[in-house]
Amino acid sequence: MPDLPLLDEVLAGRRRALARLITLIESSRPDHRTQAEAMLDQLSPHTGGAIRVGISGVPGVGKSSFIESIGLYLIEQGHKVAVLAVDPSSRRTGGSILGDKTRMEHLARNEGAFIRPSPSGGTLGGVARRTAESILAVEAAGYDVVIIETVGVGQSETAVADMSDVFLLLLQPGAGDDLQGIKKGIVELADLIVVNKADGDLANAATRAVADYRAALHLLRPASKHWSPPVLAASAATGMGLPEVWQKIGAYAETMKREGLWQTRREEQAVGRLWAEVTDALVSDLKAAPKVGAELPGLLGDVRSGRLSPTGAARRLIAAFRG
Ligand code: GDP
Repeated sequence: MPDLPLLDEVLAGRRRALARLITLIESSRPDHRTQAEAMLDQLSPHTGGAIRVGISGVPGVGKSSFIESIGLYLIEQGHKVAVLAVDPSSRRTGGSILGDKTRMEHLARNEGAFIRPSPSGGTLGGVARRTAESILAVEAAGYDVVIIETVGVGQSETAVADMSDVFLLLLQPGAGDDLQGIKKGIVELADLIVVNKADGDLANAATRAVADYRAALHLLRPASKHWSPPVLAASAATGMGLPEVWQKIGAYAETMKREGLWQTRREEQAVGRLWAEVTDALVSDLKAAPKVGAELPGLLGDVRSGRLSPTGAARRLIAAFRG
């Protein structure tokens, strides 16, 4: 049964209720999961109203500074801003919650913001699916801008791009014109590139970096014929360029909506998550089946030693499951 008073409080935008709901969403206890799923079903008609902005960049590029500055700017403009994160390496024990709070101290204290660190532990897929559910929860609570941060290492970018309407890549000046060793795949995910730290001694280098990245991007084929990712300079420290970044995000949303691609992207993301859930559930059923358990160690050994192909072993496992 969904917790109805909690639902009402979430819908009324109470931050403590929202935090409790997300704790249920992130819990691995089956009774919590059941409750969270029932609540998300109830909240479903109230979701989808936010613009979901994914932000990535290597550690030190200024992600938390940037999110704090643009978050405060957006709240000034009358928005309500939620910040979520996907970091499969994070551990809740120790400094993680505190870490994120001190990272975005001013934003965390602002009434118009809700900040939640990454769900901890588990696989990237698991962490990402819980964050995707938390997006729905914060939307139901009335947050109209959701920023999803990724740590800029590993595969978490793709996961975050898969739950965002617009994916922003943060870079910094002076690190060479090779896109800073950032994997080309990540640059290709970006709908918008921002060169942060365009202030003080770094201002000129930032201008050059913008030109370099524009040139480099020309060599890549844009993901959409309707949008070529712009490159902008900004400073989280001074606030320079932040209104322009938000304007570009608005222009992107407008273009995608006009072309009918905004909704398509969301629909594909939702269907993708459905299959991810189904796949996960089926695989754990399969692993728990006694007949599979009896065959598994032998088959794993055969695959490791090369006696059996992975495909052949997979077929046998499925046959054992079905049989
Ligand atoms: P993160 O690891 O990507 O979250 O980066 P942080 O936000 O923690 O920033 C890393 C460092 O860069 C810190 O020392 C910040 O003070 C500094 N920094 C962040 N944004 C700016 C900026 O716009 N200008 C300058 N000059 N420094 C910045």
